[in-house]
Amino acid sequence: MNEKSSGSFIVAVDGPAGTGKSSATKRIADLLGLIHVDTGALYRGVAYLCIEAGFDLNFDESDHGAITKIAQKAQLEFRRMKNRNPANRLFVNGKDVTTQIRSPELSLMASKVSAIPEVRGALKELQRTLGASAPSILEGRDIGTVIFPQANLKFFLTASIDERAKRRLSEIEAQGGDSLSFEEMREQIRIRDEGDMNRAIAPLKKAEDAIEIDTTLFTLDQVVEKMAALIQEKRR
Ligand code: C5P
Repeated sequence: MNEKSSGSFIVAVDGPAGTGKSSATKRIADLLGLIHVDTGALYRGVAYLCIEAGFDLNFDESDHGAITKIAQKAQLEFRRMKNRNPANRLFVNGKDVTTQIRSPELSLMASKVSAIPEVRGALKELQRTLGASAPSILEGRDIGTVIFPQANLKFFLTASIDERAKRRLSEIEAQGGDSLSFEEMREQIRIRDEGDMNRAIAPLKKAEDAIEIDTTLFTLDQVVEKMAALIQEKRR
């Protein structure tokens, strides 16, 4: 598939939490004029609504129907607001929840609700529509395997768990969210990895044709440079 013959140019970036996916994809989107779609934010938006509706991390299978309805009815919208940081804001049913969705509780709730097949189904079309509207770079867990298996280019980012915990903590600090200790963050990432990799539907895994980059020993600049060069080459 290329940009001219079949719609939009799509870059898929998958990998576990804290590998630098978000920071790298944001920078690359600005650099190369691609639309940045943070699909994790959509799951977080649904998790936000679930908590608002009174669910907590102990929900069980008997709650799947109600949670699915919440996901199906949710109005999830990204709006770009140049004078805000971050500029790309998530609105859930008309409310800006960009900061709230970064809390540690929301991270775990997002991971739990994302394991419900019907919730994934409810968000699938939205992700495809967002990605297909213009040349895009989408980050998530299953972009290269499920959402856009025909993406023009796929990356799979990894990093050691200690490095990922460190990065996630500085990210939260920069966004003014609630912080955890290093040990707590490491444990939270381990739990989320386990859930994301072992769920029955769309588990986190590298697409066969994805380029794997271990970012542990690279700076963000180096990762961006490497990925941007490969994207440019593909777009030519
Ligand atoms: O990327 P982020 O850490 O914001 O994602 C939050 C959670 O949403 C992940 O732990 C994962 O369970 C889920 N997710 C997913 N599929 C995606 C993106 C995120 O299951 N494409």
